[in-house]
Amino acid sequence: MSKIIDIRNKMPRHRTKKVTRRQLNAIRFWVLHHSLTTSGSPEAFANYHINTNDWSIMAYHYVIMRDGTIYWCADHDIQTPHVGNSNRHSLGVCMVGDFRTQIPTKEQYEAALWLFQVHLPSVLPQSATIQGHSEMPGYAWKVCPAISMTQFRRDVQGSPISISNPSQTTFKQGDRGQGVAELQQLLNTIGFDVGTADGIYGVLTTQAVRNAQRVLSITVDGIAGPQTVAAIKKEEERMRQQLEQMSRELEQMKQTVAALNKDNLPVSVWAEEHWREARVNGYFDGKRPQANITRQEVAIVVNRLRSNFLALISKNSKDIGTQAEDIRNLEEQLKKIEAIGK
Ligand SMILES: [Zn+2]
Repeated sequence: MSKIIDIRNKMPRHRTKKVTRRQLNAIRFWVLHHSLTTSGSPEAFANYHINTNDWSIMAYHYVIMRDGTIYWCADHDIQTPHVGNSNRHSLGVCMVGDFRTQIPTKEQYEAALWLFQVHLPSVLPQSATIQGHSEMPGYAWKVCPAISMTQFRRDVQGSPISISNPSQTTFKQGDRGQGVAELQQLLNTIGFDVGTADGIYGVLTTQAVRNAQRVLSITVDGIAGPQTVAAIKKEEERMRQQLEQMSRELEQMKQTVAALNKDNLPVSVWAEEHWREARVNGYFDGKRPQANITRQEVAIVVNRLRSNFLALISKNSKDIGTQAEDIRNLEEQLKKIEAIGK
């Protein structure tokens, strides 16, 4: 049995904006959201919606915490801003979590079922259609609440779907519930595609388990017992660590590239002495005093020195022959000398 904490009178309101009220029989949809945040509270959402978004009131009538606590945050006859044009005809329920990457906790999921199954029918004059946010007109683009609404509605209707009990350690084809959804999410993460983690252990999940068992060298039977689940979790952990390592390396590469772009690489140890001498002798023009330079800039200076040197030598030997011939001659000799230096 879930418990509801009524905080309707404690919720913050907008300083000036008034809320819009409606008849209870205007409510035709009960709309489920996720918060898109990994944590949160009615107060935090209210603060964001009212102070940042400048809305008259927090978006949801109910907020369901990760531990299964349900907060009742707004009177049903208040039109809260959660589904645009459909606000007037709907009620907003938000489960805390980012279900693109998380899944509802067992307690939370069961609390949501209880809310829709038992509580709402008992306090409202008529039943309504249960919808996910993305199923409401104009919101097909929205990834909310990012759980299977087909499954959720089926679970609310109490058809023969059992919510998996937390002590269940073996999952097989035909099983349903949060435990299965968790297993499916793990399988997807480690690259054995089961499609949407909808909590239904069907053919695809069986096939994915078989593939995982084959790769992880476990008896291939398509049944996720304790050994298989442990191996899958271990594989997920290994991949997570590998990803972290890769992202650390990527970060280092990014820093190196940034350093190159900023032209501030440290002077190489082997070049330090020459670098000092080149600066002392004024070979670097002083426009960027004490600044390190790129290899391209070094190449320009070296080539300038080289041609100055050739011209100088040729001028001194002017009386021996024509200058152009001298330079060609000297250049060839210099190339030979440079070849020895390689
Ligand atoms: Zn939503």
